[in-house]
Amino acid sequence: MHEVSLMQNVMSVVSRAAEQQGGGKVSSIHLKIGAMAGVNLDSLRFAFDIISRGTVAEEGKLEIQRVPLKLHCTGCGREYTPGQFSMTCPSCGSSDIEIITGREMQVDYIMMEDQECREGSP
Ligand SMILES: [Zn+2]
Repeated sequence: MHEVSLMQNVMSVVSRAAEQQGGGKVSSIHLKIGAMAGVNLDSLRFAFDIISRGTVAEEGKLEIQRVPLKLHCTGCGREYTPGQFSMTCPSCGSSDIEIITGREMQVDYIMMEDQECREGSP
């Protein structure tokens, strides 16, 4: 499963970052995942539950931000978000396009436990 190896990469980034911040516990991990990244979010959360066991992120939350797909038409220069059924440029009809955003698979930032505001938690 592709999500497991992605999460293993995430966890190595997270544990290194946690070490740099003094080795405390991670309270949340914020990921950016593009709409076209081909990542199944349920599988990713499942992988996190398994891989985070016994690590600094064991009790941490996984927060995932979906990055929408945005395209650039190399024909006319327009930037647009494609519709559901067609990726071609709405201005000139070209299919000569580049992906600007939507393929992200990255750790945006992490929160350590001692930085967390505990107000309002149940
Ligand atoms: Zn165009």
